[in-house]
Formats: sequence, C-alpha cells, structure tokens
Amino acid sequence: MGQIQIVQGDITRLEVDAVVNAANSTLLGGGGVDGAIHRAAGPDLLAACQLLGGCPAGEARITPGFRLPAKWVIHTVGPVWQGGEREESALLASCYRESFSVAKAHGIASIAFPAISTGVYGYPKQQAAEIALAAMREWVDDFEKITACCFSEADAYRYRELCRECI
Ligand code: ADP
Repeated sequence: MGQIQIVQGDITRLEVDAVVNAANSTLLGGGGVDGAIHRAAGPDLLAACQLLGGCPAGEARITPGFRLPAKWVIHTVGPVWQGGEREESALLASCYRESFSVAKAHGIASIAFPAISTGVYGYPKQQAAEIALAAMREWVDDFEKITACCFSEADAYRYRELCRECI
C-alpha cells in the first residue's frame, strides 16, 4: 500500500527513483521546471532527449537522470490551456497515466511530479490539482511513494486541501 506525499520545493533535489518533467513537445528543454531539470541533470540529458525525436502532448518518454539524485527522468508533455474545450483535461490526465505506466514498466518504486501545465501552459491550478490527485489515487497501490512536488507554498496548500489522506 503506497502513499501520496505532498512537498513544497524544488523537484530537482528530491531523492526518488524518478522525477517527472513537464516538458514541451520538442523535449529539447525550456523554462520552468524543464529548465531546472536540465540544469541540474547536466548536458547529457539534452543529448539523451535529442535521440527521442520529440513527444506529443499526453504522452511520456523516459531517460536517465544523469547528475540528478533521481535515477530517471520521465518527460511528459502537458496540454496548453486553451479555454478547456480542446481536450485539455483528458490530455492532462493522460500525462499522469502515461508517466505512471512508463514508471511501472521500469520497476520504479518512488516517483515525483510537478504540477504539470500549471506554469507557462496556463492550466487553472485548482482543476489541474484535482486531475493530478485523482490520477495519483488510482496508481497509489502500484508504487511505494508518489510525491506531488509543489513549487510554492500556495500550491502545496491547495493540494493538501484536496487530499486529506495525503502525507
Ligand atoms: P508547463 O509548461 O507545463 O506549464 P512550467 O515549468 O512552466 O510547465 O510549470 C509547471 C509547474 O512547475 C508550475 O507549477 C511551476 O511553478 C512548477 N515549477 C517550476 N520550477 C520547478 C521546480 N524546480 N520544481 C518543482 N516545480 C517547479
């Protein structure tokens, strides 16, 4: 029986088997959490990503974590918020599902997620948190620990309000 943990901080510092990157479809790096992960992992991460040939929204790809404490990075591409009628919620749910599925296939026991799509991609934070936590609850028994890594204290508070059973 696994647990969902909510933490506030920088995902690049977490000692987990895998961290999820909110990437863009080129997988060639960007700002926000993507930039932070590439900086912390070092240039070998970009070289590994270049071999993948991009990734469509809603899907996930895996690379080593290189200089990160995490052994793996799972790159997923969230939807850009366009008002809510462009399959955004289904695509965001798919990001979590596909990331979990790739993680499980690699024997990963602990995995940390940022709040995918809620930065530059503009997804409303409350709705995104509901989708994230619903997916985490579905997969909680397949992992030892699932971490929701919130960058701000306000984001962590939002997650805690939505998840009384989270630790
Ligand atoms: P997207 O393009 O998917 O919106 P962003 O990186 O712009 O991706 O933002 C996604 C979320 O990641 C935002 O909530 C942002 O605050 C958060 N974030 C940014 N840097 C970090 C980091 N180092 N660790 C964890 N979360 C981060």
